[in-house]
Amino acid sequence: MYVNKTMAFAERPDPTSGPMADCHLPPDLLNEARRRLLQMHWDSGVGHLGGNLSALDAMMLLHHEMIGPQDRFILSKGHSAGAYYITLWSLGLLTDADLLTFHKDGTRLAGHPPASGIPSILFSTGSLGHGLPLAAGLALAARLEGNKRRVFCLTSDGEWQEGSTFEALIFAAHRSLANLTILVDHNGLQGFGSTADVASMDPLGVRLAGFDVDIRACDGHDLPSLRTALAPGGNRPTVVIMRTIKGRGVPGMEGHMESHYLPLTETNYRAALAGIGLPA
Ligand SMILES: [Mg+2]
Repeated sequence: MYVNKTMAFAERPDPTSGPMADCHLPPDLLNEARRRLLQMHWDSGVGHLGGNLSALDAMMLLHHEMIGPQDRFILSKGHSAGAYYITLWSLGLLTDADLLTFHKDGTRLAGHPPASGIPSILFSTGSLGHGLPLAAGLALAARLEGNKRRVFCLTSDGEWQEGSTFEALIFAAHRSLANLTILVDHNGLQGFGSTADVASMDPLGVRLAGFDVDIRACDGHDLPSLRTALAPGGNRPTVVIMRTIKGRGVPGMEGHMESHYLPLTETNYRAALAGIGLPA
């Protein structure tokens, strides 16, 4: 069994004093997070696993290496709540017993992040297109308060078909909110098809570059690539477009639109466990 030796969230260094060089996401912890995410979805029989698996690596790296106690994170693609809960568990902020309640009646771990009951989660999200407006407001508030808080917002690629997402981007760029980092989980799929077929925004980076923001691209499953893209810098908002794979690590799900909604099959569950070196 994995023993969590990383520093508790509140014990980690102030990220404003420099890079969190002492914090490094251990590969075995990331592997265990993936196993826990699979098990939680298998036990509960619920879907939305594809988008959880495309976002897990970035969420884990962000929370273990980039986000300090004073920073804020908004999961705009709220249907990836499972990966967020697993990340909070990996930080010691949720327990094994909490994970067993995922998606059950009366749980704190609902299918979308709850607005109360888990202190790290500030807003209930998942009505898509709402997360970036909230994050931009938090970033402006931090500036007005004179603190060095960074605000991170993880969006899906489908959310860039939402007008409210663009309104928030316009606002953030106009205010030069350099403390705001926007991540795009660019897996190329959404609930009912490929983003290119539903309403194409490709090439997304080229289109967003016209909004007076810094654009960075990275491999959302490669930790060194993520570290480089998420490093502080610049004097305007940063948009990190992460190339990701929906259903990452589950052979029967990778790149399949159906992984958005459909739950794990036993075959896929066993194959995914074997893929991370565990008994199938
Ligand atoms: Mg997508």
